[in-house]
Amino acid sequence: MQYVSTRDSSLRVCAAEAIVRGLAPKSGLFVPQTFPKADLSGWKDLSYPELAEKVLAGFLTDYSPDFLHDATAATYGAAFGGKAGQTVKVHDGLYAVELWHGPTCAFKDYALQLMPKLLVEAKKMLHRTETTRILVATSGDTGKAALAGYADLDGIEIEVFYPNDGTSEIQRLQMATQTGKNVQVYAVNGNFDDAQTGVKRVFADASVAEELEKRGIRLSSANSINWGRLVPQIVYYFYAYFRLVEQGAAAWGSPVDFCVPTGNFGDILAGYYAKQMGLPVGRLVCASNKNNVLTDFLRTGTYDARRTFYKTTSPSMDILISSNLERLLYHVSGSSEKVAAWMQQLAETGVYTVDADTLAKIQESFAAGCADDAAGFTEIKARFAEDNYLCDTHTAVAFRVAKDLGTETPMAVLSTASPFKFPRDVLTALGEEAPASDFAAMAALTAATDAPAPESLRVLDTLPVRFTDSIDPADISAAALR
Ligand SMILES: *Cc1c(COP(=O)(O)O)cnc(C)c1O
Repeated sequence: MQYVSTRDSSLRVCAAEAIVRGLAPKSGLFVPQTFPKADLSGWKDLSYPELAEKVLAGFLTDYSPDFLHDATAATYGAAFGGKAGQTVKVHDGLYAVELWHGPTCAFKDYALQLMPKLLVEAKKMLHRTETTRILVATSGDTGKAALAGYADLDGIEIEVFYPNDGTSEIQRLQMATQTGKNVQVYAVNGNFDDAQTGVKRVFADASVAEELEKRGIRLSSANSINWGRLVPQIVYYFYAYFRLVEQGAAAWGSPVDFCVPTGNFGDILAGYYAKQMGLPVGRLVCASNKNNVLTDFLRTGTYDARRTFYKTTSPSMDILISSNLERLLYHVSGSSEKVAAWMQQLAETGVYTVDADTLAKIQESFAAGCADDAAGFTEIKARFAEDNYLCDTHTAVAFRVAKDLGTETPMAVLSTASPFKFPRDVLTALGEEAPASDFAAMAALTAATDAPAPESLRVLDTLPVRFTDSIDPADISAAALR
């Protein structure tokens, strides 16, 4: 299987190369040239690690079967407490795919517990001996998941940049207390887009690469612009579908809709890949918060980032430039020239409009909706009161959008974070008084709902804080060169 750049389809690399490089030259993103076919009936009874092995083998054809077997078995067993891909009924027709049973309590663990293994192996396969310095821009959850995945790996260093005041106290402490000799964490004075733009600028700056090269260091990315982040996320769409059939929620072969709380468009794009492989996916519903640039785009074909940026109670979705949309545009338009032109317009003017044919093809698979904080809070309360189901602020946006859409098809909502990552907001939504500290709020949330707080979050206030630096976006380059 070869990978091409979304902005230059003449450029072809193998999976290992795509994963080591992260970003293609000229800021393009690597995408698979074709989609392997799923063996639905052969896969339906597999365990999560076994299924992951099959899905990965179709895309990562240059990796050895033994390696893929060992890596998936080591990743999706104990670290997820036997709950990888857990899919539960909320009420008739509505299901939750709980993706937060991993070590950092957000869905990003699915990719970031595996990707470090893919990267280390890729370097071996390519006979690369340099140090890999991974730069991560995070709106909160990616940072911790990446730190947890890469800490203390040989030949790898990781630097994380998160928006100051853009994360919850829990999220900040998860990062600031990270152990490991190869990790560095910075708060950036600005929002997520400032951090992401700053990191992208470093990647695009040849002089930074040249300077690091002299020291035997090469940059790479753990953001969902890296192919190694996307491929593991395809697995749970299959796993969830098989569970829904098993539970009698869907007939074998009939479609299931998926509603996905969306920020950078990585999680939902994995659903599109599952569909291209042959999974009976009905609609992929893109749920946004008040930063609804994707809702407008998916309805009209105009992507207009020239709008107010809102800080919401679902911070991992507070994004105006959704990087992975570029991959979808490439797949549906089939033209790296068109994609390069749209992305250039976006960079220069903040807006672009796709042609009618491209929009029509996108709308064959995708629907969209948005919900603001108040609507999300109402939804948290309703799901708990009516269904005894407790969800976090991101998942609540998706529940609300799914409800607004109304559908006869079974709907699976991807539940992307534990409610205990955002305990003050969840308590407030339930109509309870929220204590000032996240830790008191966690205890109060357990008292109010009987749901246990994950151990890894409860102990955070007892761990030493290692990182307190905050920097301006302009200083991200210097930090990357330290
Ligand atoms: C990252 C994240 C999202 C958004 O996922 P994308 O792949 O960026 O669209 C949604 N919810 C939570 C909790 C997240 O951490």
